[in-house]
Amino acid sequence: VKRAATLAFVVCALTHASDLSAQSAEVLAANAWRLHFKYTVNASLDTGEQQFDYSVTATGDGLLARDPNGAGSHTFSGDPSINVVVSYTGRVIGADGCGMMESLVANGLAICNPSTQMVIDGDEGTFELAVNCDRVPVVHDFAWLGKCGKLFDYPVDDLAITEWEWHPEAVSFGAMPRFTFPLPPQGATLSGSDSGSPLGLNVGLFTAIATGDMTPVDYQFDFTLTPEKDEVKLELDIPAYDRWRPSTTPKGDAGEPLVVNARLQAASGRPPRVAEFIWDLTKTSHEPGVAMNFPPDAPPDAKPDLRLGTPDDPHVFDADRQHATLSKPDGVADSMAVLPYDWGGWSTLTVTAVLEDNRRIVGKLMGASEEGARLPKRATTSYIADSWKESHDASGKADDADDEMKPVGDETQGDGLNLYQEYRGFYGRAEHREGDPLVKDLFLQNQAGSAATPGIGLFKQLSQLNVQPWLLPSELPMSRVINGNRAAAPAGNPQHAVIVAIDGSLRGLSKAQGGPGNPAKISKVRLQGDWSTVDDERWKRLVAHELFHTVNVWHHGDIDRMGVLWRVMNDRLYEGGGAATGTQIQVRQEKPDADITGAVIDLYKALPNARRRMWIAVDQGQHSGDDQCVMRYANSNAYVLRADTTKRVDARDERGSALCTSSNGTGVNEDPRDPQSRYGNAGSGRGNCAHQIHVTDAVPAPSRNMPPAPPPPAP
Ligand SMILES: [Zn+2]
Ligand SMILES: [Zn+2]
Repeated sequence: VKRAATLAFVVCALTHASDLSAQSAEVLAANAWRLHFKYTVNASLDTGEQQFDYSVTATGDGLLARDPNGAGSHTFSGDPSINVVVSYTGRVIGADGCGMMESLVANGLAICNPSTQMVIDGDEGTFELAVNCDRVPVVHDFAWLGKCGKLFDYPVDDLAITEWEWHPEAVSFGAMPRFTFPLPPQGATLSGSDSGSPLGLNVGLFTAIATGDMTPVDYQFDFTLTPEKDEVKLELDIPAYDRWRPSTTPKGDAGEPLVVNARLQAASGRPPRVAEFIWDLTKTSHEPGVAMNFPPDAPPDAKPDLRLGTPDDPHVFDADRQHATLSKPDGVADSMAVLPYDWGGWSTLTVTAVLEDNRRIVGKLMGASEEGARLPKRATTSYIADSWKESHDASGKADDADDEMKPVGDETQGDGLNLYQEYRGFYGRAEHREGDPLVKDLFLQNQAGSAATPGIGLFKQLSQLNVQPWLLPSELPMSRVINGNRAAAPAGNPQHAVIVAIDGSLRGLSKAQGGPGNPAKISKVRLQGDWSTVDDERWKRLVAHELFHTVNVWHHGDIDRMGVLWRVMNDRLYEGGGAATGTQIQVRQEKPDADITGAVIDLYKALPNARRRMWIAVDQGQHSGDDQCVMRYANSNAYVLRADTTKRVDARDERGSALCTSSNGTGVNEDPRDPQSRYGNAGSGRGNCAHQIHVTDAVPAPSRNMPPAPPPPAP
């Protein structure tokens, strides 16, 4: 029996020891504790002459972190937020009927000094808690009751008390004595209660007077302390985050890197050791090429647009540089450069610190609830850097927005390039170019060089378009599509650039081949080979005229009579008629009015066969409308006098250098005019050229075909 009893004792002792060490390990491993407590006091008295009611409720919540100065011992301290509600009313009525009433009210945060402290004594199996808060601001009121006469020789109102002490030592709640509790037999939650009415309370002026120094009170104190699981944070700091956007070079070299710093932060100030840092880029874009048009017809991108690490970076990387690790780092911080290889690249960066205790802490930007960081800094619904949107007055716009209305043109929105495409940009003359999200962009490839430059300038000035004439042959595919390099980004519609070139086969005539129409329809603007023989000013206007055809601006009309035959027979001048004689006509000088038919006949007699082909401009024809408009023709030889249709008026016109905003005839076409408005208002649906401009290929440009020409006037 004795032997068995001894054995039983040994077993018990071992079990006890093993429990203690398990519990200590868990409790002692905690680096911080979350304290919750509630403290209440209630006291009241009613003796007839004296009455009072008193209550305190204090609720506390906060973190106690390992005290770095308490090395070697398990000392934790902090400043929990403690909300205190105090309510006291007291009344005293003397035998003479004279009474006094006062009240104290508080509802606010306790003033704690020094900090709340908790010490674990693993050897003793106990812990101590001291909540060192003893003050709260209160509002104090006092009033006389009944007729008291002159009790004091100073006015009682001067007794206003704005701050009042509650006495923790009186209710065993505070610095001394400490509460000491046993550590729990299992688990890591420390809890305890204390209650009673051991001492008393010195509260209020008259309660003290009425009751002597101390009044018994009842208090109750309950608390829990739980190990703080999330006290360790991995904080990401990206100094250039607010302004950075991806960039690259035409060759696809890395652009400006974005440096990301990650640092483990512990509430205790003593972060645990890190076993490994892990960096991941996820959902990284693979947009073809480096910009919307470069290189032209870029094949699908095999490599991601954002990658981790400079070449000499000591991390261990995967082949695509989307994943990097650093084992056994020296300290609790790590840094990484994210390198961009595309102007429009995007990704999401995640950083993880694996702690030596196998916890995995995922990094967050300061103040963010979201793990990781969107690159560049952007909305969840966007691939465009916030900073770019802000600096381009495009905040809040969707990536696929294409809604420019400058210039308003024919009121069709946009330029065929969506917001993402204008942001990702283009290469022109080997430089990165952006679109303007507020102004319609038109891209040109100027193969004509300086021959076209002045005209392009005039076109830009008159159209108010953001004309971008920089495209080199190496910067535009055969298709002329300027935004063809796309994969996952909002696709939009193919938008075309316009090619301007000298065509040596053309003499005295230039053409916007395929126009008027939107840029997709214009295979090429072909400028005449003999352009250098044209006066500089006229040539500039002609080039601008052809460019307007590439954005669907039409002529003022197209019913002029061209190639009309004038010939002399028997000293008379005839028009038209083929083999027959046609109509006999008279030619007049416009100003001053004079018959010049004889001079014309003399001139024609000197010509082979005494004939010549003439351009007779008519009402609502190419020469009609606003005579200052660059779209109006200046090729006519004569017009028909409306008052006598056998009379032709010799006339010369000059091409304008403006863009008309109305179809009304002006200048030589103004009505009335002497002898007449030459060609009247612009044709039906023509003129008002500024409001024909149409850039986007996404919406077909309207046709402005006119009814066929009327027959020539009868004599
Ligand atoms: Zn034309
Ligand atoms: Zn016009």
